[in-house]
Amino acid sequence: MTRTKHCYMCSSDSTSKEHVPPLCFFPEENEIGRDMRRNLVTVPSCETHNSLKSRDDEFMRTVILMTAASDSNVAGHQFFGKLLSGASRKPHVYRSFLKRGGAIDQGKRHTYQFDRDRFDACIDHLARAMFFNAFRRRWELPILVVSPNFFGGIANDQLIPHRTTQETVQVSRRFLDPMPIKGENPDVFKYRIRYDEANEAYAFAAIFYDSFEIYSFSSRN
Ligand SMILES: [Zn+2]
Repeated sequence: MTRTKHCYMCSSDSTSKEHVPPLCFFPEENEIGRDMRRNLVTVPSCETHNSLKSRDDEFMRTVILMTAASDSNVAGHQFFGKLLSGASRKPHVYRSFLKRGGAIDQGKRHTYQFDRDRFDACIDHLARAMFFNAFRRRWELPILVVSPNFFGGIANDQLIPHRTTQETVQVSRRFLDPMPIKGENPDVFKYRIRYDEANEAYAFAAIFYDSFEIYSFSSRN
């Protein structure tokens, strides 16, 4: 007997498999000298969600690498090897990802602004795909996405923390605290996941390149 597989995002039949996170996040072995593509997670995806996602993969990688490249060797490798060559091939596309936000630390460092709704939608899809992978069904409720790497703005040459973000991060951290850290390629991506069936609550947190953190949380209440 054959069973039709459904898309991780909708009720359509799947036509392909999607890597979560996107394959372009993981360096190739011949470039970095060791295998960082061990047992990658894939989920079934329909035509629509597949093409939507591939358009966002490079955007998401750019936002994360702009933060992580200075802290992590692997991220630096992806930044110089992949992001810069992509940017030179498609400069108009990459220019649309980020715009200069202003200087901090007496002008020594620069900040960037990007489309936060688009980034949150990328993390929303990632959290839903990881839920599908773990529990074999779709998560249907809205998901709140936060990252302690994002700031609210600049004042007096200093970054202003996002108050609501800090609070949501603390709540998610506490909820995820008992769960083990997972991830076959932890230099690129590691995560925690928890589903509380009784309260219909779901949380997913991930660290990219040992540096860039995201938290997502969803519940019926
Ligand atoms: Zn779909």
